Amino acid sequence: MTKDLHELTLIEASALLNSREISSEELTTSVLNRIEAVEEKVHAFVTVTRDKALKDAKSADKKRSSGENGPLLGIPGAIKDNMCVENVPTTCSSRMLENFIPPYNAHVVDLLAGAGAVIIGKTNMDEFAMGSSTENSAFFPTHNPWNTEYVPGGSSGGSAAAVAAGEGFFALGSDTGGSIRQPASFCGVVGLKPTYGRISRYGLVAFGSSLDQIGPLTSTVAGSAAVLNAIAGHDNRDSTSIPETPPDYTKSLDHEIKGVRIGVVKELLNDGIDSSIRSAILKAVEVLEKSGAIVDLDASLPSIQHALSVYYIIAPAEVSANLARYDGVKYGYSPVDDGTMWEVMEKAREFGFGPEVKRRILLGTYALSAGYYDAYYKKAQQVRTLIRQEYTNAFEKYDVLLSPTTPTLPFKIGEKTADPVAMYLNDICTIPTNIAGIPSISLQCGIEDGLPIGLQISGKPLDEEMVLRVAYAYEQQTTWHTTRPSL
Ligand code: GLN
Repeated sequence: MTKDLHELTLIEASALLNSREISSEELTTSVLNRIEAVEEKVHAFVTVTRDKALKDAKSADKKRSSGENGPLLGIPGAIKDNMCVENVPTTCSSRMLENFIPPYNAHVVDLLAGAGAVIIGKTNMDEFAMGSSTENSAFFPTHNPWNTEYVPGGSSGGSAAAVAAGEGFFALGSDTGGSIRQPASFCGVVGLKPTYGRISRYGLVAFGSSLDQIGPLTSTVAGSAAVLNAIAGHDNRDSTSIPETPPDYTKSLDHEIKGVRIGVVKELLNDGIDSSIRSAILKAVEVLEKSGAIVDLDASLPSIQHALSVYYIIAPAEVSANLARYDGVKYGYSPVDDGTMWEVMEKAREFGFGPEVKRRILLGTYALSAGYYDAYYKKAQQVRTLIRQEYTNAFEKYDVLLSPTTPTLPFKIGEKTADPVAMYLNDICTIPTNIAGIPSISLQCGIEDGLPIGLQISGKPLDEEMVLRVAYAYEQQTTWHTTRPSL
């Protein structure tokens, strides 16, 4: 049976473009048609940039016919709606930025354009990336393509659902506490959060600046490496950008993993994890062992049990500073023509922000206030140092650490909206690596009740190569990446 073009992987599509068997215009049209066919059920996009996409596709075809080449030349993909694309609305799925049209590109968008990728649209997300289900979007929830009664995860739920549903060969997401990996897990795709500083945050709307990192969502590990190649590297517009030149991440993918030391994090495989997920992870471990990896099922990082608490002090503290710019004057929503400055600000925030964003601002302001700063913020920073140190120690013994990506399977739309803490607990496995700033990937390792399960592989700072290599080795031995939701 031949596949429809939108069902190809990024690597397969790239090969067909390269051999001139298809044009980018055909490929892009196929994806746009797919979007038209399934969006009614999935709701992954806030904006579809159809005309721009077709124009970009034609120009990619022209470049190719004049001899240019490249793995992303002519490949359609989507961008989470918190990254600026020049002259395209960038809403953060918030009323506050509903009408914001940035006059410039995020660094990653410039790099993708330079590589000839075709931007097909902006994906839905939890408002300002705060959430784990994409239900906090001010516009509409996104649905999980595997079962549309379920959430796709979040906050990059639109990006993950788009890739899973064949509405793009890649999508960019952002990950502050798990927002690339958790939705990747829920939607059965590959999501990579690189080392903090590996990818420029210039043009990414700030959430928790010491935690935020952009990364790719794709249907395979090789696709992830190809997108990472295009977007990694130094940018002097981001003061936390790492100067080292990145390697070619596709080069070492197929190196064998014989002798690679894997630690399974025991604190993330305890009773708090669904039994179906635990057994899927243990089966994945067996697959890696058969490929020659040396596995220790007893890797321990005792302090990561505090990671969630640390995160819910540090991230809101940074939110309260970062979101102070939305005052009804400088950006976005401005509710009244007259009134005092305070009235304008108050109204803008009252109507511009949804409840979760307000909750985070309040939490952060509280944690930073005089008298509480030492008890909360300073203490959280101290525990953060402890967690980082435990990772550093662990990586003396192991090349990568393994865990589930999420403690539970995807949940139903509406199931957790009334209980913020239950929602926060979703990120218990992903948040520790944001706290430590290390690279981490999620890929599918099972299915239960028709819903995907994710395996998380984390590595040393700047060792995306090893993370991708172990993920690739696993993928080659299994067939999860070939299954797609039927929709
Ligand atoms: N779900 C987490 C939160 O709500 C993580 C979000 C993210 O990574 N952007 O903060």
